[in-house]
Amino acid sequence: MKLGQIFIRTVLHFWPGLNRGFDGLPDTRFEPMVVYSRRFLMWWGLLLFCCKLGSRRQLDYQFRDLETHILENLNRWAHCEQDSLPVNKTLSHFLGHVGPAPLAELRTDCVRRLIRNKVLDAARLDGHFVVAIDGTGYLCFDQPHCSHCLVHKNGSAVYYLHPVLEAKLVDPRGLALSVGTEFIENPLDHRPASHPDLAKLTEYEKVKQDCELKAFARLAPQLKRDFPQTPLWLSGDSLYACGPALTICEDNHWSYTLTFKPGRTPTLWADFQGLLRLCPENRLQCTLSDGTRQCFRWVNDLDYRDDAGRRHLVHALLCEETDGEQDHTFAWITDHRLKPTNVQAIAAGTGRVRQKIENQGFNTQKNSGLNLEHAYSTHADILKAFYYLLQIAHLFLQMFEMGSLLRHLAREYACTPLQLFGSLKNLAQRLLECLRYFCLDDETFDPKAAAHGQIRLCDSS
Ligand SMILES: [Zn+2]
Repeated sequence: MKLGQIFIRTVLHFWPGLNRGFDGLPDTRFEPMVVYSRRFLMWWGLLLFCCKLGSRRQLDYQFRDLETHILENLNRWAHCEQDSLPVNKTLSHFLGHVGPAPLAELRTDCVRRLIRNKVLDAARLDGHFVVAIDGTGYLCFDQPHCSHCLVHKNGSAVYYLHPVLEAKLVDPRGLALSVGTEFIENPLDHRPASHPDLAKLTEYEKVKQDCELKAFARLAPQLKRDFPQTPLWLSGDSLYACGPALTICEDNHWSYTLTFKPGRTPTLWADFQGLLRLCPENRLQCTLSDGTRQCFRWVNDLDYRDDAGRRHLVHALLCEETDGEQDHTFAWITDHRLKPTNVQAIAAGTGRVRQKIENQGFNTQKNSGLNLEHAYSTHADILKAFYYLLQIAHLFLQMFEMGSLLRHLAREYACTPLQLFGSLKNLAQRLLECLRYFCLDDETFDPKAAAHGQIRLCDSS
């Protein structure tokens, strides 16, 4: 099977009804001369990210060459008969009409379908899906950009930032699937669009700005609405080890594992250290297959009273690790009572796994050609629509990269997909070449054919 066929087969196998899903997007009869179908524009826009073109303008150069088969392939995929390719501005225009919300919904639907079909069951820990919560820089300007920008002073320089808070379903294999997004931005009435007197930005104004914790309070109801019955286990850094975030987890019946640092909750840390000495039996030592030695110590039933006087029952886990050269210490608080049989799994599966959102999540989206930090539009709502398009494309790519069809192809060359293609960026480049130079047959685009057989995700990264 050709690479393009593997990609299309994988997407249609997991999401056979996407064309219908695209039909459900808001109607956009915006161009009187040529009317492009929503399906066609959606696949075309998703391919911008799946093939990692890097910028919207590349659509015109990489996809438009009349000697390629892009138009035929897209027509087959979208079941359309467009007789010409759109220009990149058409995509922006289209996304402006659709708006970000339906695309966010589409992203969530795609993940829900994987959960419902048990595709992600290997990612479960004690029945739960581990969801890492973390913010990241997204767009950064050195000029006032819009009235929602966060204003950040660094020495004499002033930056205008658009960070974003993500909830991503993560697992030790390296999955990082976006399941919730909240843009961190100031409300419209925060300051006038002209941003006067920026140099005099006061501490008070900095505090007044939007931030990750405020965004988490907005993200939580979305996550509960979208996954009401799914058992979630949130994993966050020490920023979340505080009363407001704990209350949100408790109210939503979410499990949690949060990085525990002395400076964030000093009295709780002092209690923990005192009680550790009193329960020397709460201890487990083990050696990993690579020779790393781990020592776990823990205290159950810590009573934490937060700044607002609310009481929380938490359990605290300490992991001291040495590989012979370097020592590392990690600590977390969790709602799960700790015992010798679960500390290792909780540390690895909900504590340490959080770095996946950083590496496989944000770094991959920034540095492997998806170009997360590129401003795909100047308009705020269209930017957000592109953001969700990128998340959906990355979801497709992860299933493609970790799916058994691609692994079977690599096995013919006695290697892994990454060894075969050298990098994820190269893989996307080869995918682009395939879609450009091969006219793929009807069977490739047939959801019924894609439904046959099974595509399994790899067991380990
Ligand atoms: Zn802005």
